[in-house]
Amino acid sequence: MAVLMECKEIQQKYIPFIDDKLSKRELDAFLHHMEECPDCKEEYDIYYTMIMGMRYLEEDNRKSSDWVSSDEKLRYAQEYLRHFRIMRVQKLLLLVILCIAVILLIQ
Ligand SMILES: [Zn+2]
Repeated sequence: MAVLMECKEIQQKYIPFIDDKLSKRELDAFLHHMEECPDCKEEYDIYYTMIMGMRYLEEDNRKSSDWVSSDEKLRYAQEYLRHFRIMRVQKLLLLVILCIAVILLIQ
């Protein structure tokens, strides 16, 4: 039951995901669910192809180079999140080093 609820929530996020409109927390949950739920992943693939196909037909051909597959889109999002996490860790480390430096300077 809980899984079903989660699937419904995830399925509402296909379009925001494709449009890069999810928050980092939502994106994290979305990507996690894609790895664990083959049903939603399959549906996402279909959705993505459909939406991108429709947009491709509507837009002029200049934008065709932006086309990535549904799997690539997921991978890019994962890399984006990983990059963000690394940045956060680096900022924390920098803060710790600064604190230590300040403490050492004061002594
Ligand atoms: Zn699911």
